[in-house]
Amino acid sequence: MGVLEPGSTIGILGGGQLGRMLAMAAARLGLKCHIYSDVTGPACDVAAAATIAPYEDLDAVRVFAGKVQAVTYEFENVPLATAAAAAEKTPVRPGPKALEVAQDRLTEKRFISGLGIPVAPFAAVDGKADLEAALTTLGMPAILKTRRLGYDGKGQVRVTDAATAASALSEIGSAPAVLEGMVAFQYEVSVLVVRGLDGATVTYDVPLNTHKGGILDTSAVPSPLPAPAVKRAHDIAHAIADALGYVGVLAVEMFYLGEGADEALVVNEIAPRVHNSGHWTIDACAVSQFENHVRAVAGWPLGATDRHSDAVMSNLIGRDVLAWAELAKEPGACVHIYGKHQPKPGRKMGHVTRIRPRG
Ligand code: AMP
Repeated sequence: MGVLEPGSTIGILGGGQLGRMLAMAAARLGLKCHIYSDVTGPACDVAAAATIAPYEDLDAVRVFAGKVQAVTYEFENVPLATAAAAAEKTPVRPGPKALEVAQDRLTEKRFISGLGIPVAPFAAVDGKADLEAALTTLGMPAILKTRRLGYDGKGQVRVTDAATAASALSEIGSAPAVLEGMVAFQYEVSVLVVRGLDGATVTYDVPLNTHKGGILDTSAVPSPLPAPAVKRAHDIAHAIADALGYVGVLAVEMFYLGEGADEALVVNEIAPRVHNSGHWTIDACAVSQFENHVRAVAGWPLGATDRHSDAVMSNLIGRDVLAWAELAKEPGACVHIYGKHQPKPGRKMGHVTRIRPRG
C-alpha cells in the first residue's frame, strides 16, 4: 500500500522550521525531502532539493510532485488547488479533507461539534446584523475570529463592551468571521495524534501549553491533568483523526475546564500538521512527532510515543535566540535553532527543551 522505501523522496509544501525538523527526521530513516516553498526558508538548508515558486504556480507544483513519491505539508493554509495539483501526480498525505476543515474556523467547529465533541459556543458572523444577534445569544465577553488565515492570535479581537463591539468588525478587516463565547478554562493543552496509512493511531502525552502575546511560550509534560482527562483528550483526538481519514500528525488544541465541569475538555482548534506544542517529543521520546509524521506519510509502521523524560519546551522568540551560547552551557537543555536570519519580534527563531528523568 504505497510504502516508501529508504532512498525515496517526500515532498514538503512549506519551507519553515516545521519542514526543517521533518526533513531532519526523514534523513534519520534514509528518506530524502524536497521542499516546495514560495520563499527560501530554514527547511531548504537541510533538504535534498528545493523548488522556490508561488503556491499558485500549479504547473511548477505538478513538476515538483512528479519528482517525489508522496507529498505532505507543514502549514495548514496550503491552497486547496495546490494540494489537488500535487495529488494528480503522487499521493498527498494528509488528504484534502483535513485542509478543507482546518482552513475555515466555521467548517472546523461544525465538523467537530458534529462528532459530538464540545467546542466553544459559536455563531457565524458575516456582518453587523449577525454580530449583534450573536452577541445577544452568546453575551460578552466574546471573541470575534476571522474564519480564515488566523494564527498565533492574529485575526481575532475580544469584544467586551459596546465600544469594542462597534469596532470589532473593522479590526478584523470585515472578513467573514465566527463569534465565540469565552471559555473559562483552567489550562490549555493539546494532543498530538498520529494516524498511519493503515488507520492505526497513537498519541503522545498531553502537554500543558502557555502563551505570551498570543504565541505559544511553553509546552510542559507531564501536565497537571488527571488521568481520566488525559484519556478523554486522547479519545477526542482519535475520533477527529478517524473522521478525517487522516494520515500523519494532527494537533488538537483544547481547553481544560477542571474536574467539576460538565464537559472537562473543549476543542479550540485543530492543525493538520506537526505542531509547536509537540517539539518536546524530539528530546523526550524515542520517536518524535516529526519522525512519526514521516513514518505515516511513508506508509511505515508508527513508532513508540512513550515519553522517557519529563520536559519543558520554551520557544525562542525574536531576540531570545541571542542567548544561545548561555543555553548551550546548560545541562539538560536541548537547543534547537532554526537558522533564520533576522530575529524579528514575534518570529520563532528556535526552541529549547529542558529534560530531566521522568518523575
Ligand atoms: P486561537 O487563535 O483560536 O488559538 O486563540 C488564541 C488564544 O486565545 C488561545 O490560545 C486562548 O488562550 C485564547 N482563546 C481563544 N478562544 C478562546 C475562547 N473561546 N475562550 C477563551 N479563550 C480563548
